[in-house]
Amino acid sequence: MMKIKVIGSGSMWTKYNSASYMIDNNILIDIPNGTCKNLYRMGINPLTIENVMITHFHGDHYFDIPFYFLIKSKHNSLTVNMYCSKEGKRKNNSLLKLAFPNSAKDVLECLNINYCFKDKFQINDYQVQRYLVEHGRMKPAYGYIFTNDDKKIGFTGDCAICENVEYMASICDYLFCDCMFVVGTEKHMGIDKISALANKYVNCKFVVSHLEDVTREELKKVKIPNIIVPEDGELFEV
Ligand SMILES: [Zn+2]
Ligand SMILES: [Zn+2]
Repeated sequence: MMKIKVIGSGSMWTKYNSASYMIDNNILIDIPNGTCKNLYRMGINPLTIENVMITHFHGDHYFDIPFYFLIKSKHNSLTVNMYCSKEGKRKNNSLLKLAFPNSAKDVLECLNINYCFKDKFQINDYQVQRYLVEHGRMKPAYGYIFTNDDKKIGFTGDCAICENVEYMASICDYLFCDCMFVVGTEKHMGIDKISALANKYVNCKFVVSHLEDVTREELKKVKIPNIIVPEDGELFEV
């Protein structure tokens, strides 16, 4: 059984944590600003996390990298498996140098960071496949599908409605998805797009995320049984 904890379900401009998820206390999907603090508040030590997947390189998806790298190096918890697009290594390193100019070199030397830029890979018992999604001018932006026994659990990352998101909805049992706005744009999906997907793919449960406050309010009025509006900290066992 896969345990997915919603670390954050909000957009940047809300009291909710920025969109991210933790799987089995060991895999993090996106590491936005504040993630280490958010994990501590939920009683989770960031040291337990060995696998970090980054959907795309906007600040609200990776800006806690310096704090995560630093704590890992200080406590001799040295293995970090990073799954992201290939510019990730340069971006993470320059962010670390910006945050901690005097210790960045030592931190990078002592950590054992394994970068994986593949489209298909395995983490623990999960087969993972990544998919390109549309997110305005931000390229590449990725979604991921985890296969666990007979279940498929997807994470869209930030995205507009596009062919690959529709495909993910068609095969997943759960899809943790961007639903930032009431009406979708070329950068983010909205209630209109998610409702259409949920009505078409009734076997998939859509756990919405990256929500603006007004979207969260409006979602309460939507009575579609396979759309789930999570709270930060909510646990899904699939
Ligand atoms: Zn983004
Ligand atoms: Zn975002």
